[in-house]
Amino acid sequence: MIKYCVSILAKNILEAYEKVQKIYNIADYIEIRADKFKDFDFNIFKKEFNLEKFIFTIRTPKNGGFFSGSEKKRIELLKYAIANNFGYVDIEYDLSPGLINWFSENKNKTKIIISYHNFNETSNNLDNICKKIIKQKPDVIKIVTKANYLSDNVKIFELLKKYRKNYKVVFHTMGEYGEISRIIGGISGNYFTYTSIEQELTAPGQLSIEKLKNEYKLDRLKRNFKLYGLLGNPIKHSHGYLIHNFAFNKNNINSLYLNFLENDLNSFFKNYIDLINGLSVTIPFKKDVINYLDKIDPKAKLIGSVNTILKKNGKLIGYNTDYIGFYNSLKKYINPYSKRIAILGAGGSARAVLVSLLDKQNDIKIFNRTVRNAKTLAQEFNCSYGDLSEVYEYNPQILINCTSVGMYPKVGDTPINTSKIRNCVVYDLVYNPYYTQFLRLASKHNIIVSGFDMFLRQAQEQFRLFTNINFSYLKYRNYFLKLLKII
Ligand code: NAP
Repeated sequence: MIKYCVSILAKNILEAYEKVQKIYNIADYIEIRADKFKDFDFNIFKKEFNLEKFIFTIRTPKNGGFFSGSEKKRIELLKYAIANNFGYVDIEYDLSPGLINWFSENKNKTKIIISYHNFNETSNNLDNICKKIIKQKPDVIKIVTKANYLSDNVKIFELLKKYRKNYKVVFHTMGEYGEISRIIGGISGNYFTYTSIEQELTAPGQLSIEKLKNEYKLDRLKRNFKLYGLLGNPIKHSHGYLIHNFAFNKNNINSLYLNFLENDLNSFFKNYIDLINGLSVTIPFKKDVINYLDKIDPKAKLIGSVNTILKKNGKLIGYNTDYIGFYNSLKKYINPYSKRIAILGAGGSARAVLVSLLDKQNDIKIFNRTVRNAKTLAQEFNCSYGDLSEVYEYNPQILINCTSVGMYPKVGDTPINTSKIRNCVVYDLVYNPYYTQFLRLASKHNIIVSGFDMFLRQAQEQFRLFTNINFSYLKYRNYFLKLLKII
């Protein structure tokens, strides 16, 4: 089970003490980064806390810290932490052999973490560094490097696999690409995972203990967990991890869903294919990912893009759950059969919407800012097309916005003025904000539908593909609205 070490970087002892009070009961370990302290009287800590779970660390800028005193003073302080019975003291692997020996022989009850940091890269030399640290007889080996590529994490996973059985280790990478190593490493054998208090990150790519516990729900996971995730770039604002980890947790499934920030599909499939069980796929890979699949669902093939990949008996199968999510939500409001339908937009989601409505004898017309794009799509699927301004005279019974116009933060925008539309089901795929300007203007004379239901239903279908479980995401709609900060 994962253990959390909350790292606290405070200006002075009093501030550190106040921060520790907040997390003492939920943290397994607490690292006091004393880089900025002027006063080192730990009596206030000793009175209230058990120092056994505290790590004393003091770093200079060379190792990512802020201590500006002399090296002699820093070493004195590390020794002083031992005299104060801190549970752990963290020292750097390149201290002189004499000093490392001193710590090892005079540590008393304190355990020594020997750490290696590389703030520039994750080299191929980590095994040698690890062997060098082992010779220094640490209680805990710590290796932390900068991930410049998602594939850098794999080097760390291999190191972890090799050493976790016989040593206490903490191996992870830093930076945006390294986030997953903190989580996977934490569940896969790291002695603990460094975290922070919300909003107070002490290292790049660090995640808060609140996020790890409440959003990723890591406490439930065992080492043989199944791994799923979202493949894309950018993915910072993607919400899938919140809802899929919630659903895994609710259904007692030992699976984890992470965000895989990737630039290079070749590298991803080479390095992660053995680790993952299924994927969601987003911008910019929904089309290109098809080249890496063994099989593709016929509807996804027709749409020309894949948003879900499932690994079955070692084979990768591609699906598109957007069209199912859309269709299932629309039919709650109107029977989409033999209707006059206007689709605004000619991009990826317009194709999914189109395919879901094609075989139901509807009269479908595509309207787009760039008419050339509407024409290409319309010709492929044998429907008509036009400019956005022509929608009103078409007088649709169902009007669907598949453009990105109106999406947060440009919430005042709308692709057309829907206040002129009458007696229509007006549907907006954009779901943040929940009620877009497009829907607001239409609300007086029409039935309006937010794309949030589609979002939940497509995710529900992904979850069904991943787990074979039909779990109602809609039941938690209000909870998800809040969680995802939909306005
Ligand atoms: P896409 O492939 O990039 O297509 C974007 C479309 O929007 C194009 O037709 C583009 O027209 C049009 N557009 C962009 N800016 C415009 C502007 N200022 N004025 C008029 N038209 C404009 O995007 P997509 O994947 O189809 O996604 C479209 C929207 O649907 C996004 O907001 C996405 O979040 C949402 N979506 C929601 C769900 C859900 O579950 N609810 C699922 C999928 C997508 P041009 O051809 O002229 O560039």
